[in-house]
Amino acid sequence: MAIPPGVSAADFEAAISAFADVVGAEWVFTDEDTVDTYRDAYTPFRGEEEEKYASAAVAPTNVEQVQEIVRIANRYKIPLYVISTGRNLAYGGSAPVYSGSVVLDLKRMNRILEVNEDMAYALVEPGVSYFDLYRYIRERGMRLWIDCPDPGWGSLIGNALDRGAGRTPLPYRDHFGAHCGMEVVLPNGDLVRTGMGANPNAGPNWQAFPYGAGPLADGLFAQSNFGIVTKMGFWLLPEPEASMTGRIRARRHDDIVPLVRILSHLQYQGIVNCLFSLNSPVFQAPMDERKSALLDRPGGGSAAEWDAYAASLGVPFWQTELRFYGPTSVMDAQWAYVKERLRAIDSIELIDGNDVIRFPLTDDQIRRLGDPATFGVPSLNVFSGQAGTTGHLDASPMLPHSGEAVLRAHKVFLREYRDAGIPLMLGFAMSYHTRAFIMFHGVNLTTDPEWNRRARALYARLIEVAGEHGWGVYRAHTAFQDHLMRTYSFNDHALMRLNETLKDALDPNGILSAGRYGIWPKHLRGNRA
Ligand SMILES: Cc1cc2nc3c(=O)[nH]c(=O)nc-3n(C[C@H](O)[C@H](O)[C@H](O)COP(=O)(O)OP(=O)(O)OC[C@H]3O[C@@H](n4cnc5c(N)ncnc54)[C@H](O)[C@@H]3O)c2cc1C
Repeated sequence: MAIPPGVSAADFEAAISAFADVVGAEWVFTDEDTVDTYRDAYTPFRGEEEEKYASAAVAPTNVEQVQEIVRIANRYKIPLYVISTGRNLAYGGSAPVYSGSVVLDLKRMNRILEVNEDMAYALVEPGVSYFDLYRYIRERGMRLWIDCPDPGWGSLIGNALDRGAGRTPLPYRDHFGAHCGMEVVLPNGDLVRTGMGANPNAGPNWQAFPYGAGPLADGLFAQSNFGIVTKMGFWLLPEPEASMTGRIRARRHDDIVPLVRILSHLQYQGIVNCLFSLNSPVFQAPMDERKSALLDRPGGGSAAEWDAYAASLGVPFWQTELRFYGPTSVMDAQWAYVKERLRAIDSIELIDGNDVIRFPLTDDQIRRLGDPATFGVPSLNVFSGQAGTTGHLDASPMLPHSGEAVLRAHKVFLREYRDAGIPLMLGFAMSYHTRAFIMFHGVNLTTDPEWNRRARALYARLIEVAGEHGWGVYRAHTAFQDHLMRTYSFNDHALMRLNETLKDALDPNGILSAGRYGIWPKHLRGNRA
């Protein structure tokens, strides 16, 4: 049996036995085969020493058990690493940041505590997956949509705490942004509720008003290691009447500037509220000599040079699709207004979708959906077509809503991929959030250690380059979280000093998720990668 570093065999055995007293021996895992299931299936260190491992796992079924486990961990100084469903593939999966930690697996805490159809919210435990909540709502014929990421097997809580996102209208697709109220076990075992939940009489007000009174604590528990979230409320979208699309193409390099300005303002006004992806058939096409030469020109090539290159490929420079949700009369008016505004761009091509879909969908319609998450339907479709890789890393910077930034980012990141000799993966801006794009960049992993070494070097470089341009990456694989947090360095790393002050106050024994997002407990600060 592996033992956490710095813990004696006797203390570890005593802790394991105490965990078993709390949850039952069958829910404490120490055998290698089971502990192996907590490895990161997408590890960038496949077959290498740096891969991180758990020593054991413990799976409680209620809040009181979580509190007891935390008290035991404090007594024996056992490092814990908390997961909800542990599907955080591309960001570390269910493996700990600090090797040897005991995984605190909350999958068994999978109660849907409330779905309120009138007020359109759900209150759930950490083990509730998108599939679970979707099924619950559909079986009861409730006219509500969930918002899910591409893989439906993850949890609402784990995903939101890593600031994940989905595909239906704003604000629902920004999962942390659409939460309302948390219950948290602190590292000392205390139990707190945030927002209106701190009022013992709150009732449905807990999921109605996020702020309560005083400092808003919720943000402290996302991408951190300050507490274990045991309940969380989420706002849900009342089922729209229908949906339809319109497609947009623009021919020229510089068209992105007015295109972003117009679409973002329409989004701020609520006229466009779908997830849209700004694709560039030019930048996303495979690298060739002409493109490579353009990237090396001063400023990464002029607009005229790029336009000539695009014309030689015979593709538009930019294209996107907008989806509308609502009554057909409203959607028709929204699309008509979008077209009116976009006609200011003279190369614009606006194509009606003529594809109205009405809700609720039948089972047969659901089975035939190409992109179910767009309609709040969880699936695992995204995993088809991933042959030839063992996973990927995701290095996605946040860009402000500026066409100039989009152009600059394309050129900067394309050069990095080219120089690394690794093909661009994804490489487009998506409107997940209200005021910024996520510019998606992936780096494929394989079974070849030499490739993976280059993939890691590229990934680290993408994080640095994003930081240098002020585009900060929003989320990173656990092995690179120290690296990422070093880019958030204003005033000689004042933010990390604040995080460490909080860590020392809340978790003086440093038992919880050591190293998560670069926050190490005092005794392990030398561990920074
Ligand atoms: C092909 C592919 C497509 C993907 N598409 C998307 C996508 O569209 N959108 C997206 O957001 N992600 C996406 N992901 C990433 C990932 O799969 C999802 O975000 C997934 O939902 C995260 O796993 P989870 O919900 O099981 O969270 P977990 O793995 O349980 O949690 C994530 C992390 O949050 C912390 N945490 C979890 N629970 C708690 C808790 N109760 N208290 C305190 N801290 C906690 C832990 O540190 C944990 O490691 C994709 C991944 C792949 C491989």
